[in-house]
Parts: sequence; C-alpha cells; structure tokens
Amino acid sequence: MPTITFEGKDYACREGESVLECLERHGVLLPSSCRAGACKTCMVRALAGTPPKEAQQGLKDTLVVQNYFLACIAKPTEDLTIGLAKEGELYRAQVLEKRMLAPNILRLRLEKPDGFRYWAGQFINLVREEDGLVRSYSLASLPEEPFLELHIKRIPHGRMTGWLFADVQEGDALAFRGPAGDSFYVQHDPEQPLLLAGTGTGLAPLYGIARAALAQGHTGPIHLFHGSLVREGLYYVEELRALAAQHAQFHYYPVVLQGTPPEGGLVGDMKSLPVERLGDLTGYRAYLCGDPELVEALRRAVFLAGVGMNDIYTDPFVFAPA
Ligand SMILES: Cc1cc2nc3c(=O)[nH]c(=O)nc-3n(C[C@H](O)[C@H](O)[C@H](O)COP(=O)(O)OP(=O)(O)OC[C@H]3O[C@@H](n4cnc5c(N)ncnc54)[C@H](O)[C@@H]3O)c2cc1C
Repeated sequence: MPTITFEGKDYACREGESVLECLERHGVLLPSSCRAGACKTCMVRALAGTPPKEAQQGLKDTLVVQNYFLACIAKPTEDLTIGLAKEGELYRAQVLEKRMLAPNILRLRLEKPDGFRYWAGQFINLVREEDGLVRSYSLASLPEEPFLELHIKRIPHGRMTGWLFADVQEGDALAFRGPAGDSFYVQHDPEQPLLLAGTGTGLAPLYGIARAALAQGHTGPIHLFHGSLVREGLYYVEELRALAAQHAQFHYYPVVLQGTPPEGGLVGDMKSLPVERLGDLTGYRAYLCGDPELVEALRRAVFLAGVGMNDIYTDPFVFAPA
C-alpha cells in the first residue's frame, strides 16, 4: 500500500483510504471541513510523487501544475511526500541594476540564483536580514532571463521601500524566499482570449505573464490595460508598443484617469474601462493585479461580464498593517 510522508514521518495508507483519513488515523490532523472536495480547506501539495488526478478536479491550472491536491478525496496510488508550507527556501542575490522607471517607480534587477525556478507573474518575499522585515514583490522577468526583475513603488514612510530606494545599492546582496503565488500563465487553451489589467506596479506580473504567453505560442487575443492617475506614472510604454508591433494578437492600452494619455491611449476609470471597452467577456481568462481595491472591483466586473470563477486570477498587493 502507498506510504504518505509528511514532515519527515511515514504513514502507511490502507486500501480505499484518503490521504486525510490516513493521517487522521495516525493522529495527524490537517485542516479540513467539507471532506467532499468542495471547500478546499484540506489542500496540500505533493512534493514527491504524482497526486491522483481526481483529487485535482476543480483546482485552477496554476495549482495543478504545482501539484496541489485535495487530501480528503485523494486515494493515493503511489507513495507521496506532501507538504503544507508554501514558504520557500532562502536565497541571496546580488543587485545587478537599480533604475527609475517613473518618478516613483524603481526597477531592481537581481542576479537569478542557481536552482531558483518560478513562473512569470509569481512573487518573491524580500527579507531585510538586519531585522527580518519581509515584503512581497512580483516578478516581471521571464524564467529564462538571467535576472529577476522587480518594479517597486515608493510608499511614503514605507519601511521596505524606503530602504530599497535610499540604501540598497548595485552590488549589494538581497535575501528573499519564494517563489509564491498562483497567478501565472499555463497553456491550457492557446486560443483563449486573455484580459490583463492593473495600475502602477501591478504591471510587473502582467508584463511577465503577457510575455510568457506569447513565448509559449498563445494565439488568442491578449488585451493588456495599464492604468495610472496621470501619464507620468505609466512606464514600459515603448516596450509594450514594440510587443504589440511584433505580435498582432497582443493589444496594449495605456490608460490615465486625468489629463492626456500617451498617443493611442485612453482616459477613464480602470475599474470599469476594460469591461466597457471589450464588452462580453464570456470565454476569457482574466489576470488582475496591483491595488487591492481595483483588483476587487475588476474581479466583480469581469465576473459579471462573463468570465468564469476558475478563469479569474488575482494578485492584490495587500499591504502590511501599520
Ligand atoms: C503578493 C504581493 C505582491 C506585491 N507585489 C508588489 C510589486 O510588484 N510592487 C510593489 O511596489 N509592491 C508590491 N506589493 C506591495 C509590497 O509588498 C509592500 O506592501 C509595499 O512595497 C509597501 O511596503 P513598505 O514596507 O515600504 O511599507 P510599510 O512600512 O508596510 O507601510 C507604510 C505605511 O504605508 C501604508 N501603505 C503601504 N502600502 C501602501 C499602498 N500601496 N497604498 C497606500 N498605503 C500604503 C501602510 O499601511 C503603512 O501605514 C505586493 C504585495 C503583495 C501582497
């Protein structure tokens, strides 16, 4: 019978028993609720071995490719090593480049450490080692690039951003854990239309996701809306225009709330503009990133416009309590 390994200990599974039941019989309690594969409370990750396919039904593609599964309905057919923790290994990387992209937005490029693997659009948790302060930043780079790229917005009196803007220099080593997050591109249907929307540094994961989709041969339309209060806050305008010139299926919309947008751009409220512009979104997949209030408003708007729940990927940049 298969063996379940959890936190370094082995547990023998009985015939017909789920992973959850097996662990409970041995006195190991995992969080669980419905026990029928609906609530997802008992979701765990296979660190070694392949979880049963039926225990991954209803999970987003991005969880499936990371080997997450529901312990309550998983009847294992082979040995599995499972884990709960999402906390990644600690890496250290040299700052290769520090450059301003817009008046309040910094681009940091870090050397990609050996063995660090991720999907474009995931995030890392930067650790300030002198006091253990931790903050999350999304990856704008592609896994095949030799650097990790972060876009960081200056926050008044921000502890991590204050330090990154003022003190961290090229050549310094930064510590981080990760990767984490399940908002990234998985090629499920290369013709599916994609909507990517965010404001400010919400562009970081979207820039990675759009380029990953194109690199993997996505042929369906990809609509990327990047918003800012005013034109000066928009960045990568030329890079995104160049991407649109190279790929007929990629459409880029720079959006400002006030004033004049860049040529070919739009004026309006990002909470409603992408849906107003595209209309019926049935069959779309949506990636919504950045300001938490905007992400929540867009999540509702795209759902009402027809995007299925399992096709909505969000990455709200929730900030730590003061
Ligand atoms: C999954 C995830 C991904 C993220 N990715 C990015 C990214 O790619 N780029 C990026 O710039 N940020 C990103 N963030 C936000 C980032 O993690 C920090 O919260 C942010 O940089 C502020 O950190 P700080 O230590 O400088 O500010 P803190 O010291 O934590 O905050 C100082 C004060 O400012 C307030 N505050 C903090 N952030 C904001 C804000 N955005 N708007 C208004 N008030 C605020 C706080 O409540 C506090 O009162 C992400 C967050 C998450 C959860």
